[in-house]
Amino acid sequence: MRAHRVCVYCGSRSGSDEFVDAARAFANALADRGWDLVYGGGNVGLMGVVADTVMARGREVTGVIPHSLFDVEVAHRGITELLEVESMHERKAVMAARADAFVALPGGLGTLEELFEAVTWHQIGIHAKPCGILNAFGFYDSLLEFLHGSADAGFVSRGHLERIIVADEPGELLDALAERFAD
Ligand code: AMP
Repeated sequence: MRAHRVCVYCGSRSGSDEFVDAARAFANALADRGWDLVYGGGNVGLMGVVADTVMARGREVTGVIPHSLFDVEVAHRGITELLEVESMHERKAVMAARADAFVALPGGLGTLEELFEAVTWHQIGIHAKPCGILNAFGFYDSLLEFLHGSADAGFVSRGHLERIIVADEPGELLDALAERFAD
């Protein structure tokens, strides 16, 4: 059986130092479990930190990047497999197809877009792969508060919201995801 592969969405910027530490800790926790990474293929920001850390631990890293972002996100040449695609849609489709689970680390608008695609597709049954958020240093507190407010207002199903796994600590997040991997 192949190793579990986690699709990670995270910043193409690094944010402050604590987020770099959190990204590294997450990548180490992934490698500790003998799992592999699929991500956007860039060598910038937290994306680069996660990829480098997983590679250094001897696990497989698959990057998926559109031609148009090769320079902007500095396509990572030092990973196990770098897949070049034509569009953002293809990128997300390839990443999703190869993943057993989705995780968002701290990031910007791109990260949020990817996270919401994963959770909304789960909600409407396009996939059944677990989705998690690493709420490192409370980065996602305000987003989570907004989502719970949206549930209170009747726009978001509480059941769907509760299916998103949220943890502050990487090991806790990955163990919770593992309980929901498809057999
Ligand atoms: P950011 O969180 O904005 O730093 O972006 C993180 C990653 O998300 C980068 O690899 C971006 O290329 C990617 N990204 C940005 N916008 C989108 C989008 N609309 N769909 C998918 N990925 C995106």
